[in-house]
Amino acid sequence: MKRVYTAESLVQVVHVRNLLQSEGIRTELRNERLGGAVGEIPFLEAWPELWVAELEFDRAQELIELELHSHGLEEPEWTCTGCGERVEGQFGECWKCGHVRPDATG
Ligand SMILES: [Zn+2]
Repeated sequence: MKRVYTAESLVQVVHVRNLLQSEGIRTELRNERLGGAVGEIPFLEAWPELWVAELEFDRAQELIELELHSHGLEEPEWTCTGCGERVEGQFGECWKCGHVRPDATG
């Protein structure tokens, strides 16, 4: 087995797991328990991890790359309510008209 993906958010890891499973890749979720006592484990190592068989590692990684780049898993694209332009998730306001992201949180 090889670790193919890890993220702070279990939701994200589960999302990727579902993606791989829909492509017929068998996965194993590790460090699923979050929020409990982490103890002496450094925080990073307590992130949920997604593992796949070594044979399927390359393909899994490719699928994850595609998913992360095409849909912007972490920062989804949004549509400007000012001008209707599609704006990449990392921007908090429209690059075209300066309209602030409508559902901006935090
Ligand atoms: Zn705009």
